[in-house]
Amino acid sequence: MVSKTGWRVRIRKATTIQSQTIQTINYNLKISSTERSKHLQQIGEQIFRPKLSEDAEVSLMTLGGFSQVGRSCMLLTTHESKILIDCGINPGTKNPLEAYPRLDWANITLDELDAVVISHAHLDHTGFLPVLFKYGYKGPIYCTEPTLPMMNLIQLDAIKVAAAQGRIPLYSERDVKQVMKQTISLAYGTVTDISPDIKLVFSNAGHILGSASCHFHIGNGNHNFVYTGDLKYGKSMLFDSASWNFPRVETLLIESTYGAKEDIQSTREEVEGTFIRSVNETLRNGGKVLIPIPAVGRAQELMMVIDQYMKAGHLTEAPVFTEGMISEATAIHESYPEYLARDLREKILSTEENPFDSEYFTNIEHSDAREEALREGPCIIMATSGMLEGGPVLEYFKHVAPSQKNKILFVSYQVNGTMGRRVLDGSRQVSVVGKDGKIEVININCSTEKLDGFSGHSDYNQLMSYVHKLRPKLRRVIVNHGERRKCENLASSIHRMFRIATTCPQVQEGIRLL
Ligand SMILES: [Zn+2]
Repeated sequence: MVSKTGWRVRIRKATTIQSQTIQTINYNLKISSTERSKHLQQIGEQIFRPKLSEDAEVSLMTLGGFSQVGRSCMLLTTHESKILIDCGINPGTKNPLEAYPRLDWANITLDELDAVVISHAHLDHTGFLPVLFKYGYKGPIYCTEPTLPMMNLIQLDAIKVAAAQGRIPLYSERDVKQVMKQTISLAYGTVTDISPDIKLVFSNAGHILGSASCHFHIGNGNHNFVYTGDLKYGKSMLFDSASWNFPRVETLLIESTYGAKEDIQSTREEVEGTFIRSVNETLRNGGKVLIPIPAVGRAQELMMVIDQYMKAGHLTEAPVFTEGMISEATAIHESYPEYLARDLREKILSTEENPFDSEYFTNIEHSDAREEALREGPCIIMATSGMLEGGPVLEYFKHVAPSQKNKILFVSYQVNGTMGRRVLDGSRQVSVVGKDGKIEVININCSTEKLDGFSGHSDYNQLMSYVHKLRPKLRRVIVNHGERRKCENLASSIHRMFRIATTCPQVQEGIRLL
């Protein structure tokens, strides 16, 4: 069959909700299959081209996301190859020199790139990727299987958000389609040649659906470079803890979102307890709880928690409304049970009980239906975006913020410069662009609270114990993806505790790995 058709049959359990995104991708891949097989052939020839030299020399150029959170991007180079790793935007700034990766500084043409490797779907790792296609990138993108529909959903949404805010989108739907066609998706654990001298393996990073740590095996065992991507070294309801068992790793690049000493998250039991108490308090006073949430990951995690505690009678029963591609992201989760935590996977595959399909949840499909959620009376509202930077959450925010009875509950990281961060830091008044383009001033009288334990990132202790596990193999640790102070703190802690050479570069630095 495979040799005759080029297709391999895979039997999968049907989902309760169909994902539009996956259907559209499958349709597009099917109609472009001739073009795609030609493209794959060319990529194969490129990968197995004769090598120029056997010398090993490996460097890393930092193009974004170093000593900062946002616009993650770097270039891995050897004598033979140039690999771009992640290609994100920084949602906290509008200044182009700060918002986008410094590809200009890397001084390369897109034709020189052998591949782009994507760790996971979040915009700060994929938001600039379609722009490469706008400027004519023709090579492959590598990511895990669920990352393709997830980033497709997120990239298309960013176009809508830009249009709604009256900004010119960075790229068009055509560019996003091109991303889809040139993506080669890989399962965790599959070893793949991506250039004459580099092999790539993805492994579970525990952060969001399909999130991966990327292991680059360079030359004939000359060097092993592992980029953690965004990392959760700890179990959540959705995902198993990040894998750490790499056969070899000389250089580790680790994120440090929560790299400061004081960044200690409560245990899962504690944070669930705090969440239940906090939500109960507001609901029992007749208030509404607004949870600004990224559509991907945290929303599904909280749905699991709410469903479990409401069923058990520990959480006051109240309607739960979701809006803004949360239900589409949920459908994608359900489509890839093999990427979920073991117990959840078994629940979905071998029982009729599917927590993604709980009766407590109402998805608001159109803005007209919001009235139901905004009517008098207690309820929980989860809406995107997670940092109050656009999206339907702003409409709810306008109604929820002025009343003392209500609460805004942050459960994800708030990047510096975003409105979410300002509200969390205690602003009592913010301005929001209204539907007609006019600026509206919103008074914030409701309470605000943040809960860190639901984060898809490791806390300080988890980052340190992850490095501890890898320690016997490591020669050097590079720290990125954290505010400057956090990167520096994590780097110095690792150096002090484990006696390993560490660096925490800034953007626009070149580092020789070998
Ligand atoms: Zn992320």
